[in-house]
Amino acid sequence: MIQFQQQIDSIFDTQVQYANHAKASTVTERKTVLFKLEQAILMHQSMIELALMADLGKHRVEVGATEIFPVLSEIRLFRRKLKRWTKSKSVRNNLLFIGSKASIVPEPKGVCLIISPWNYPFQLALINLVAAVAAGNTVILKPSEFVPAVNKVIKQIIEDVFPVNWVTLVEGEIEETTYLLTKKFHHIHFTGSPTVGKIVMAAAAKNLTSVTLELGGKSPLIIDETVDLRKMMPKILWGKMMNNGQTCIAPDYVFIQRDQKQVFIEAFKATVEELLSPSFSDVARIINPKQWERLTNYIGDAKRRGANVVAGGEAHMDSLSIEPTLITNVNEEMLVMKEELFGPIFPMMVYDHLAEVVAYIQNHEKPLVCYMLSHSKINQELIRRQTSSGALLINDFLVHVMHPNLPFGGVNHSGMGQSTGYFGFLTFSHQKAVLQTNAYLSISTILNFPYTDSKRRLIKLFMQYF
Ligand code: NAD
Repeated sequence: MIQFQQQIDSIFDTQVQYANHAKASTVTERKTVLFKLEQAILMHQSMIELALMADLGKHRVEVGATEIFPVLSEIRLFRRKLKRWTKSKSVRNNLLFIGSKASIVPEPKGVCLIISPWNYPFQLALINLVAAVAAGNTVILKPSEFVPAVNKVIKQIIEDVFPVNWVTLVEGEIEETTYLLTKKFHHIHFTGSPTVGKIVMAAAAKNLTSVTLELGGKSPLIIDETVDLRKMMPKILWGKMMNNGQTCIAPDYVFIQRDQKQVFIEAFKATVEELLSPSFSDVARIINPKQWERLTNYIGDAKRRGANVVAGGEAHMDSLSIEPTLITNVNEEMLVMKEELFGPIFPMMVYDHLAEVVAYIQNHEKPLVCYMLSHSKINQELIRRQTSSGALLINDFLVHVMHPNLPFGGVNHSGMGQSTGYFGFLTFSHQKAVLQTNAYLSISTILNFPYTDSKRRLIKLFMQYF
């Protein structure tokens, strides 16, 4: 057996043994460990910033806003709400169950695996860890192999806060992850691409392990004629260029009403010039040469097939940079309209009637987010009713993930299951149905053998009235 397999076996076995202890931990104990985690994150704040600068060139403001703050805010939410969320909830009886006590009791799932991606490597590893631990589980965390500096800090934080049998970080590439996926986890939470999501789900199926899949895809931005594009462009640019477009919920491509096409192009250019040029120092870099090549190939492919690069397009391998690139005259044969972009490329589709947009979205995979800029209630309603997506965000970008009471998640190709806040707690809990009836007189007393005619008549009454 290879060494990493022995290590994984050993960690998994100690977690299996510890799982009952974690399950029996009190709310106070869980809140205490969350507090320790919060303190450890605050202590390591500058190391986290340096690590994200090293791995992704992320600006400190962005690190604070999108990596550290969401985790701290999640910890605080769980510490405030955990007592209420873990309580069993009584449910009402109908006449058939009169005299019984019925309740729903959340119980921890057990030993969980969390697999996270490289684009928000700190946030996406820890935010789900918070939910898993708070719900009473043990966790093996497998972060992306492409962010070594961030992984080092996370490892240190985890080792400071948790014993190995409660939470452990296991680093690894495909080989290690493939082996991890053979273990009989009670739940797997995966964040990453739809392609790998399918691999994870297939592996989980072998053990009948439940999965949450937080995936990606092409999220459209729909803009109607009621929008002042010059005013909205700073928001649009921020939504697209946060983390250099390497955001699962970034608007992938834009649908613009034909009459507004030129205004959009001019406003885009002017806003890039005003807010980001000349140094683009607020913008993270493309993660690595492989991703840079993928993106520049997309631009090349679009040009070869007749698209027009109307803004940006400059790319430098040495700095792993690509300018915010607006592309018009695109079609579905081009890679920019086939693949999730996950970078600073913005293809633009032109429409005459909103019905065309609806038809396009309906005919493609369900996106993680549908963005709409519009002041028309009728248009907003049309998109809400006739398209399906993980989330619909109207007149803004990205911020729905910060809302403490909204679930985060995709639908079908963009994911399954939900994360964050109470929905994260539910994801890492099993909702156990508990029913206590009167031992001597209950519905089953009536249904017991022998099956007489009077019981048959009674069942007929049930069929009529319940
Ligand atoms: P990825 O799917 O390549 O990798 C994600 C994780 O899976 C990593 O930890 C990686 O090591 C592991 N992995 C890769 N190949 C594997 C294999 N063959 N078997 C087992 N494990 C494997 O994704 P990525 O490139 O890290 O991230 C980008 C993708 O993630 C995009 O599609 C993006 O939309 C998506 N994403 C989704 C969310 C969300 O919350 N919905 C958030 C961030 C990123």
